[in-house]
Amino acid sequence: MRVVVVLLFWLVGLVAAAAEPCPGNPDALGTSRVLSISPSDFTRIGSMQYAKTLPLNDHEVVITFDDGPIPPYTNAVLDTLASQCVKATYFLVGEMAQAYPSIVRRIYNSGHTIGTHSQNHPFAFQRLTTAKFERQVDAGIASVDTALGDQKAVAPFFRIPGLGRTNAIEDYLASKSLVTWSADVVADDWKRIGAREIVRRAMRRLKARGRGILLLHDIHPATVTALPMLLKELKDRGYHVVQVVADVERPESVPEPVASPDAKEPWPRALQASTTQGTPDKVATRHRVKKAISRKRRRPAMATLREPNYGATAKDWWHKQF
Ligand SMILES: [Zn+2]
Repeated sequence: MRVVVVLLFWLVGLVAAAAEPCPGNPDALGTSRVLSISPSDFTRIGSMQYAKTLPLNDHEVVITFDDGPIPPYTNAVLDTLASQCVKATYFLVGEMAQAYPSIVRRIYNSGHTIGTHSQNHPFAFQRLTTAKFERQVDAGIASVDTALGDQKAVAPFFRIPGLGRTNAIEDYLASKSLVTWSADVVADDWKRIGAREIVRRAMRRLKARGRGILLLHDIHPATVTALPMLLKELKDRGYHVVQVVADVERPESVPEPVASPDAKEPWPRALQASTTQGTPDKVATRHRVKKAISRKRRRPAMATLREPNYGATAKDWWHKQF
């Protein structure tokens, strides 16, 4: 009898761990299962801040990306995820979605989950007035809705910028039936660390917890460089990727924009690249993103994937928040 029970557990484990085949990459990490959650059951999740988190099995990881989209980094992250058939959850910033709607649609049509992360990612979200944080939440969702062209495509998932929670903010999110996502594990990829260190920290912290929601940012070059290494480490160490969706009706895909504003308009399609090859950028990423958005009429150069040198002129505050 005991042998039968052990065998059954082994078989169940095998089925749970077996990812869908990944075309062109038989060794892909893949996505082992989809976890569908109800907002009423999961009001707030993430052990960094809350008592409750997602019901993950040992060695299961949920990969999340905040703050995008921004080319070319978001595109590079999507390419890497596609090559490994890994599905992630994105928390998009409204103004970035307005600027790059075709990337937002690409994220959705690649099968990833899209939640929101406010309209402008204000610093010290926890210090905003009630009217301001409500507007940030609502406008962020509206912008991503518009970018996708179908409000059912946006998951009722929200991550508070900088994880700057207050009871009032959480109550407001709950009143809108939004799941407030914190995280279980961070990799410090918004700090001045290189790609290898991002991977080391992510793996060390995942190992300590055994499973969890991993918070990353698809706007940093170091994260783009780290991701292929990170996915390989996850595979080599026996981790399984879980995609999270809300148990609500959603479209299979959204139409590609006929004339995408980010293709037609001279929106900055990239962070400003250094004008002199080999000269280190002296402006921090966040500052560059803001600058890019403010220069709507200027056609920019495509940014390189070179890691910027966060020099003395960099605005450190960006690196102190999520
Ligand atoms: Zn953020």
